[in-house]
Amino acid sequence: MKLMEIPYKRPDVDALIEKCAKLTADFANAESAAEQIRIFKEFEEEKGHFSTYMCLSNIRNSVDTEDPFYIEEQAFYDKVSPRATQCFNEFTKGIIESKFIDELRKEFGDYYFDCMEMDQKIFSPEIMDLMAEENELTSKYEQLYASARIEFEGKICNVSQLSAYRQSPDRAIRKAAIEAEGKFFDSLQDEIEEIYDRLVKNRTKQAKILGFENYVEVAYLMNHRSYKKEDVAKFRQQVLEVMVPKNVEYKKLQAERIGIEDFKFYDDDFFFADGNPMPKYSTKEILERAQQMFGEMSPETKELIDLMMDKNLFDIEARNGKRNAGYCVTIQDFGYPFIFSNSNGTSGDVKTLTHECGHALAAYTTQKLIEYPALRHAPMEACETHSMSMEFLTSPWHHLFFEEDAAKYSEHLAKSASLFIPYSVIVDYWQELVYTNPDWTKEERNQAWLELEKQFRPYIDFADLPFYSRGGGWQRQIHITCMPFYYIDYSIAQTLAIQFFSLFLQDKESAWEKYMKFVKIGGMMNIDETIAACGLTSPFEPDSLKAICQPVYEWIDNLGK
Ligand SMILES: [Zn+2]
Repeated sequence: MKLMEIPYKRPDVDALIEKCAKLTADFANAESAAEQIRIFKEFEEEKGHFSTYMCLSNIRNSVDTEDPFYIEEQAFYDKVSPRATQCFNEFTKGIIESKFIDELRKEFGDYYFDCMEMDQKIFSPEIMDLMAEENELTSKYEQLYASARIEFEGKICNVSQLSAYRQSPDRAIRKAAIEAEGKFFDSLQDEIEEIYDRLVKNRTKQAKILGFENYVEVAYLMNHRSYKKEDVAKFRQQVLEVMVPKNVEYKKLQAERIGIEDFKFYDDDFFFADGNPMPKYSTKEILERAQQMFGEMSPETKELIDLMMDKNLFDIEARNGKRNAGYCVTIQDFGYPFIFSNSNGTSGDVKTLTHECGHALAAYTTQKLIEYPALRHAPMEACETHSMSMEFLTSPWHHLFFEEDAAKYSEHLAKSASLFIPYSVIVDYWQELVYTNPDWTKEERNQAWLELEKQFRPYIDFADLPFYSRGGGWQRQIHITCMPFYYIDYSIAQTLAIQFFSLFLQDKESAWEKYMKFVKIGGMMNIDETIAACGLTSPFEPDSLKAICQPVYEWIDNLGK
């Protein structure tokens, strides 16, 4: 069955809750570990059905955010999902308290128990109304974001389509594109700032009810982290020492290359005097070429891409009303991964497609290898490593998309990795500051954003762009509103992807083998254990970042020599 043909029906939440309550009781009364495992499988199945319909609704809402049917369905899930979380939590509480815990630990592994214990700490029936309000606010923000109809160069663009013009060789167009984008966000300034302010207060209140000092602690537990915010603070320091100076150097070279003396923010995305590398093909052709690439890459990727093409598991063309996002999800009952993005004709289309296919490969592989769905999903830092590494491991096929510009694309990809990490640190650090100071005014939040920009991207000059120079840049970063604290995960993943690229530069085959080993671990280990099991270096180790980056920095420096 093709994806869009899968019939949707709204799940009966009362029946689900009743069923889960019965399973929770049966589990507590079970006479053996084997019996509990059987009940656990049944529970996972029930949970899977609910997640399948919620996922289908979410996909169809993101494909067309203006379809009234799925707007209503989203509102339904926003409201009922805290109740579902509550009944799932009741069940997992029984697992942690099981009288057969030793046998269960053996079956599911310690990491699963760590995650379930963290989930217990961040849930209380007392926060359910706040959770529902939080869902409603994030949906409202996504809706606003997707409403963009920005007239530019005779076309009506969404934010993604407009951002393509930031790479234009014509400086006036680049500037105008950023101004038009800023104007769109300015028109929503009051609404977005109000939504975010309410979210900060809401999440802080949840944290207090749960007995925490602030929301930062909740976020670390929610994201099942094995490291602490002190580790992240040390990592930031390494980024400042190792990556920021290198990026300043790259930007200086970029300015020389494109022949601009007063380098401004609107020049930031324009890398090559004769134009950035752009895919030479249409979206449809890019997909066909991706099928060829993954078909040649390995038997695992071939099986996946053939399935995805056959079942139409892609929606990558930009359209008005589409959610402004790129993601890959798995529709659990059907075992299909689905890839969503907004192509805009730039190299980002190939980058996003290869990235999301890395996620899809991991989901598809673990689904076949790991019996319990709960153990398939890797920690988020590992998930983003699957995807970000795939961007590099597909290097031998970049020419299929860029032809004679393939080398330019590879250079751009490697430099972008270095440029991205300090940005991802800003996103994370800023949220830590905001949730540590929940009473900050809107102006104080913007000011903090600007100060971090100066520290981690000192080469940026926002010139007279009103939206960016008043510190509004955080408003266009969807994760900040919708997936709080989901961003340091990208920094960590990028340092691991850089390591996979270094390995690839030495020996393609062993890099691929190690990559598949990493993928197959799925959700059976935390990120530290996964890194160790694959013989990689953790960016949390003191002085590790310099050694991690060295081979790729050298590779970049030798280009064109
Ligand atoms: Zn990703």
